[in-house]
Amino acid sequence: MLESYQGSCHCGRVQFRIRADLSTMLECNCSVCTKKGILHVIVPPEQFELVRGERELTTYQFNTNTAQHTFCRHCGMHPFYVPRSDPDKISVNARCLDGIDPAELRPRHFFDGSNWEEAQQARRRTEEA
Ligand SMILES: [Zn+2]
Repeated sequence: MLESYQGSCHCGRVQFRIRADLSTMLECNCSVCTKKGILHVIVPPEQFELVRGERELTTYQFNTNTAQHTFCRHCGMHPFYVPRSDPDKISVNARCLDGIDPAELRPRHFFDGSNWEEAQQARRRTEEA
């Protein structure tokens, strides 16, 4: 079920709103997600609104340079980014939703990002089935 959430980076310069179903939350074991501890909630652009902070964001890219790993250049938090798996969508880091109880963040989906090509193919097959 879609619900509304507000989120932000740690220093508060970046703020956003989303409408999302947190049961879609997924964890990824790729090199960058593991180190950042991101819990992904992937939403289409129409369910995402950047309230403030566009100029505070900077971008880290690597490998195929498809993903745009945006983060706040002041506090270093990674509240959302454009993922390689869905470059037309936005992956919000559920850990950056305001007031979220970390004990409730239990991802039921898993993306094997350390084997990215295979994981993406398996995901597409699931979506088409
Ligand atoms: Zn910040």
